[in-house]
Amino acid sequence: MKAQQDQLVIYNSLKGEKEPFVPMVEGKVGMYVCGPTLYSEPHMGNMRTFINFDLIYRYLLHLGFSVKYVRNVTDAGHITNSAGQEVDSIGVAAKAEQLQSLEIVYKYAVKFQELQRVYNMLPPSIEPTATQHIQEQIEIIEQIITNGYAYEVNGSVYFDTRRYMQDYNYGILSGRKVDELENETRTLNAQDEKRFFADFALWKKANPDDMQIWRSPWGNGNPGWHIECTAMSTKYLGKQFDIHGGGMDLKFPHHEDEIAQSCGSFGCNPARYWMHANMLNVNGQKMSKSFGNYFLPKQILDGTTGLFEKSYSANVVRFFMMQAHYRSNLDFTQEALNASEKGYARLIEGFKTLENLPTTTSSFDVAALIGSFYKAMNDDFNAPILVANLFEAVKQINLVKDGNASISADDKTELKAAMEIFIHEVLGLAPENTATETRLAPVMDLVLDLRQQARTNKDWTTSDQIRDGLAKAGIVVKDGKEGTTWS
Ligand code: AMP
Ligand code: ZN
Repeated sequence: MKAQQDQLVIYNSLKGEKEPFVPMVEGKVGMYVCGPTLYSEPHMGNMRTFINFDLIYRYLLHLGFSVKYVRNVTDAGHITNSAGQEVDSIGVAAKAEQLQSLEIVYKYAVKFQELQRVYNMLPPSIEPTATQHIQEQIEIIEQIITNGYAYEVNGSVYFDTRRYMQDYNYGILSGRKVDELENETRTLNAQDEKRFFADFALWKKANPDDMQIWRSPWGNGNPGWHIECTAMSTKYLGKQFDIHGGGMDLKFPHHEDEIAQSCGSFGCNPARYWMHANMLNVNGQKMSKSFGNYFLPKQILDGTTGLFEKSYSANVVRFFMMQAHYRSNLDFTQEALNASEKGYARLIEGFKTLENLPTTTSSFDVAALIGSFYKAMNDDFNAPILVANLFEAVKQINLVKDGNASISADDKTELKAAMEIFIHEVLGLAPENTATETRLAPVMDLVLDLRQQARTNKDWTTSDQIRDGLAKAGIVVKDGKEGTTWS
């Protein structure tokens, strides 16, 4: 199959328009995505952003690019909360759970790794952490000070936004105007160390109750939130690289400040293409820990979100997400999930039907169909259109099955290879693992027999225990007219 690198078009948030993707070095892509802050388990909204970038990574790989994908882990630093205050979220969580900061980080890193496996996400090339790069952060801050865009006050260092604005455009990415920001932001008060309300911390003097602190030329303290990404992206991808991604909510201030830091230290915007994934909402409101309207990615698998009556498999959840473009909002509703569950089953069934389809010498236009898969993904990774085109393939397959259309042997081979690639490799829907299923089958027969016995004896506690235990292991049991099935 011919890769179509030259036709890929990406929506660049920096320019507010789609443009052809031309990497800095032919055939190679450097991509940095802001990763999780590991003070708690990532919620389903966080996962949506990471799954969207997994799709982007997968398609770039499929096109034959050699991709260096760097996704950081925030395990230190003063982070701005939703009220705009600088807080050490990891320290706060550590105190609440009576653990040390790195115990907290490690605990949630293990959970995050497990979630990536369950949701079939490819591991990035590197997952660097902020605590491993304190020295690099300090060096960049020193460079910014030397260049005149930062100042030290009482052991903390702030970015000098007013000075920066004399040479650069602060707001280039987010379109925010400093005068408008001033109206939204509280005015400086006497205790404020900042010279200007829009200045932001590069280094923060240690508070007496900080759990992690580092030595610096300005005394003991913590890095500000934004500087870690500048340090790690520069170290692994260079001062300028191809793609920088993250959730839409990071555009301002996080990404705007990353641009300011890179311009302030190296004189260039770090990324040529800025990509922003849109939010997962619950009833129209962004899913967020601080709003309390969140659920965890594992809860949807074991049916304990409290929002939906049943559980859904990781493939169904992933498929559901793929039916919305990464730049569109997405609302999780039971109705939409049920529709995705049916759609996913129809797609996989159609793909299986293709295997045994009779062939003749003539065909419907298979090349155009395969071309439509590429066209969708080349248009700014348009997964929902790809899914619609895959359903078109299923429709044609069923027409052939019913004798109302035909396919040649060569075209059948081509279509099978293309569907395999786009369903499994690009959309990242894990192949139903037939090998595991075969090995598990006798064990499952036994477990389902025991459950049936419990049900016959009206021992609901045991039968529920078996069903819930299986759900935890990702196995969904269904009782239907034809008996009990599992998947
Ligand atoms: P955090 O761990 O808060 O730094 O967030 C990690 C990533 O998840 C960032 O790229 C955020 O933009 C993204 N994110 C946070 N909330 C949501 C949401 N409701 N929907 C989609 N992405 C989100
Ligand atoms: Zn970042």
